[in-house]
Amino acid sequence: MKLLEDAILTRGRVKDGDVLKVDAFLNHQMDVPLINELGREFHRLFGDAGVNKILTIEASGIGIACITAQHFGVPVVFAKKTQSRNIDGPVYTSKVTSFTHQRTYDVIVSQSFLGPSDHVLLIDDFLAKGSALLGLIDLVRQSGASIAGAGICIEKGFDVGGKLVRDTGVRVESLAVIREMRDGQVVFAH
Ligand code: 5GP
Repeated sequence: MKLLEDAILTRGRVKDGDVLKVDAFLNHQMDVPLINELGREFHRLFGDAGVNKILTIEASGIGIACITAQHFGVPVVFAKKTQSRNIDGPVYTSKVTSFTHQRTYDVIVSQSFLGPSDHVLLIDDFLAKGSALLGLIDLVRQSGASIAGAGICIEKGFDVGGKLVRDTGVRVESLAVIREMRDGQVVFAH
């Protein structure tokens, strides 16, 4: 998606260790009109898939998922990264290893908010090693819900996650796919 690629080229920064900073517009300061266009594009891609719920993971996915949900007219559920004292009753649990924070979390969703009648669109900001998305897929499968697909803003096409997730049979649509980051420059996969 050209709008997102242009934002990455003009407002993103490549850091050591293959980390792309997009905190000027996507996951710290949020450019709401831009993210609204990402939501519109996710709706164009998945709007006829019968989605009745969007699932994401805290923290960076939440804002993107909420803006996307406005296009679908469905609620957002976000997986929480630690056992919260505010959650009543049974939960689904999975483990996610954070690429950016270099640690492993338990992620949980209350069983009240995901179940066999749900057809879920997964949304996240990045797909890199696939841990976050595989954790969300695991939570959905535990719940008996079905998966319409995964909408990703930025996929690192050089990393393993895209293949790992697609090998599970989940349809993945990424709005920008990075082929490589070399000498501080982002090269897209097309
Ligand atoms: P994965 O679990 O696929 O390795 O990574 C997905 C998660 O890691 C995303 O939710 C995102 O928050 C974070 N992430 C992975 N790579 C990057 C990156 O290059 N830049 C930023 N800002 N976040 C990343």
